[in-house]
Amino acid sequence: MVYSREDFKYIDAHTHFFPPDMFKSIWDWFEKVKWEIKYQLPTEELVKILKNQNVKAFTTHNYAHKKDLAENMNEWTNKFSKEHPNAIPFGTIWPEDENREEYTKKIFEIYKFKGIKIQPLVQEFYPNDPRMTEVYKIIEDYGGFITWHAGTAPYRNEYVGLKHFKKYLDKFSDMKMIIAHMGAYEYDKFIKLLDKHNNMYLDTAMIFIRNNIFPERKVKQPKPEILQSYQDRILFGSDFPNIPYPYEQSVLGLLDLDLPRNFYQSIFFKNAKKIFRLKGI
Ligand SMILES: [Zn+2]
Repeated sequence: MVYSREDFKYIDAHTHFFPPDMFKSIWDWFEKVKWEIKYQLPTEELVKILKNQNVKAFTTHNYAHKKDLAENMNEWTNKFSKEHPNAIPFGTIWPEDENREEYTKKIFEIYKFKGIKIQPLVQEFYPNDPRMTEVYKIIEDYGGFITWHAGTAPYRNEYVGLKHFKKYLDKFSDMKMIIAHMGAYEYDKFIKLLDKHNNMYLDTAMIFIRNNIFPERKVKQPKPEILQSYQDRILFGSDFPNIPYPYEQSVLGLLDLDLPRNFYQSIFFKNAKKIFRLKGI
């Protein structure tokens, strides 16, 4: 390993911040499936941990899983991001909410969030769900991002995978989007999409860690030379705090690849700073 963690500063494009009571139920669920999260801590402590890891800015991904929750969650995120100016706020939308178009506008117009997070694995709707079409148009109009858990890792249901995602992509091909986990496990296919979709980015969350968490992960990981050739389109992400290993692992696994300094500067910091238009960090 040529570089060490201290050689770089970071923007984490894949961190979660739920209201504390929701975090608690999520963590209880993870416990049940034997995913032992080491960071089941109060919100302020989580923020402090990121700061100590030299993370200069971080996203606030959360997602509603039933009706009439999203609006309050967005309000919570707005308050949180006002208290933490280095938060990169992302909202959530639930397709059954009657006022979804109205609060989507509010997300961008009033709250000035950077985007929204969609998690089809938990939210259980198809990316091209017609109830979301108007919402997508609003996001696109405001130049917001969608961070998509579009891939099939760590497990799959009928709503994930490129096959369904493509139906959305055909309609919104120029939309700004970030594909979580580099599209795992369909890495190659998602990487290829970067050639066609100039506003698409991939985040590295959970993919390059030293200890092998997912059985399919190691074999199908993108090759270092491929990463390098798309270095302007890759964003560092960790999935903190919902990880069953120390935060450092997310960085160390990438440093193990021994790629050039400018590669790391781009993916750890520069790319996210640019696309989220972050100032003063
Ligand atoms: Zn995540």
